[in-house]
Amino acid sequence: MSSEVFSIVATDGAARAGVLRTAHGVVETPVFMPVGTKATVKSLHPDEVRDLGAQILLGNTYHLYFRPGDELIRDLGGLHRFMGWEAPILTDSGGFQVFSLRDTIARVDDEGVTFRSVYDGAEAHFTPELAARIQQNLGSDIAMCLDHVPPAGISRAQLEDAVRRTTLWAERQRNAPRADGQLRFGIAQGGVDPELRRRSTEEIAELDFDGNAIGGLAIGEDRDTMFEATDRSAALMPADKPRYFMGIGDPEGILEVIEAGVDMFDCVLPTRTARTGSALTWEGRLNLRNARFARDEGPIDERCDCPACARFSRGYVRHLVNQDELLGLRLLSLHNLRFLISLTRGARTAIERGEFATYKRDALERIM
Ligand SMILES: [Zn+2]
Repeated sequence: MSSEVFSIVATDGAARAGVLRTAHGVVETPVFMPVGTKATVKSLHPDEVRDLGAQILLGNTYHLYFRPGDELIRDLGGLHRFMGWEAPILTDSGGFQVFSLRDTIARVDDEGVTFRSVYDGAEAHFTPELAARIQQNLGSDIAMCLDHVPPAGISRAQLEDAVRRTTLWAERQRNAPRADGQLRFGIAQGGVDPELRRRSTEEIAELDFDGNAIGGLAIGEDRDTMFEATDRSAALMPADKPRYFMGIGDPEGILEVIEAGVDMFDCVLPTRTARTGSALTWEGRLNLRNARFARDEGPIDERCDCPACARFSRGYVRHLVNQDELLGLRLLSLHNLRFLISLTRGARTAIERGEFATYKRDALERIM
């Protein structure tokens, strides 16, 4: 199975190993995408992020539109040059931020969504056409469609309306201009309702985007229900195009969505976890603030090859995080990113060898 944009090199059950070709280079999937919300992966130099094995970063349309402004970034050479990252970038559409900052929404109708900016409270209006234009100015390699992301637990009628509007908006954005070589992905909604999820997935697939995303999950619903919905939706998505699960990045979640046949995923978890003083490790999650690490001379994770584990002890990292030292945040961010990238890399190798089920079981036994 192959196209110019995406080819699959191995499958194991529903899991796939693939190659995604973008204007700024090739991405081997499955891939974990670190989040650089405001054109930076918090506290890290882009060379450090690249050296950890990151292949593609996620940038945030909502935040970059307001600060410093997509036109300013365009005038400074586009997002790659602006942030000093020459590898691929995916930008979200801003839909998730607008709809998750629920208190700021003034009005949603078929034309677009009106809300107050979190920066200064000024009224703003997002449409599919604007989402396309902002991402065109940023010059990302992959642009996402604006979708209507409803909260978990709303009525079926409201969910159905969000599905209808998401398709309507995708049809409009599909016809809007884009940057040279920019790929565009559609997003399916439908919550965990099997019929609506199917409808949305099929309607978006019908629009023939370069890739397809599962949106509106991992927003607080029950995990088992979410994974079932993922299995069902991945199976309905075109097999010859990349599949992206938006907003998952805990170790268990990564392995579950890969098993369902998802190729790409992103999450702020590694850097957010670092800010709480915690490390993701092959022994599970460790809170480095804990007194039991005070005299621990070992690395954060014996099995990790990141710059933090190569040189520093748990005792030292504990001291740094307890004193709110910047280096503590940086070391934990480096480590947590490397852990998720390695976990995902290992999954790709296991898929190529036809050993994904064993890999997943062994990994979960250790980290859970
Ligand atoms: Zn490490």
